[in-house]
Amino acid sequence: MIKLHPAIDNGFPPAKPGFTGGTLKCHCASDPVTVEVGSQTAHNHACGCTKCWKPAGAIFSQIAVVDRNSVKVTSGEDKLQVVDPNAAIQRHACKDCGVHMFGRIENTGHPFYGLDFVHTELSDDEGWSPPEFAAFVSSVIESGVSPDKMPEIRQRLEELGLHPYDSLSPPLMDAIATHVAKQSGVLAA
Ligand SMILES: [Zn+2]
Ligand SMILES: [Zn+2]
Repeated sequence: MIKLHPAIDNGFPPAKPGFTGGTLKCHCASDPVTVEVGSQTAHNHACGCTKCWKPAGAIFSQIAVVDRNSVKVTSGEDKLQVVDPNAAIQRHACKDCGVHMFGRIENTGHPFYGLDFVHTELSDDEGWSPPEFAAFVSSVIESGVSPDKMPEIRQRLEELGLHPYDSLSPPLMDAIATHVAKQSGVLAA
């Protein structure tokens, strides 16, 4: 069976009611970067884009959002650097192991301003919101996946309950369009 992501391939537990977050840790064996996330995540999903961090061998990343005010670097801050300062999402990665610890949007006009992007698989805490869908599925081809593998990949995602989309999920695409419509004035703000 095709492998998509180690935290997804064998199924995943539901969110734990009342879960209030945990600690993310990079892959460095010594002096890891740690990030405290002080609330439950939302919109967790498999992402096929070429920008999100993936563990070695994975076709997809697994990424969720959380309020930026609940994300705090608790150690190793000096090891963090922004992968691409020109990207809309500033991905703060560990210089030593390459793991992305959080992605932050600094443009206050961006539809997702206020949300940070995090990989909950970096946490040993159990209870995080599970993946709900798969985004940017066709983009895995841009990472080198053979196009003839796509039917198998889409079928496997469906089996796992992660409906495949080639952009974001409808609720997130609607949120972006609503933001744009309010900015342009065609919808009341
Ligand atoms: Zn590291
Ligand atoms: Zn992505």
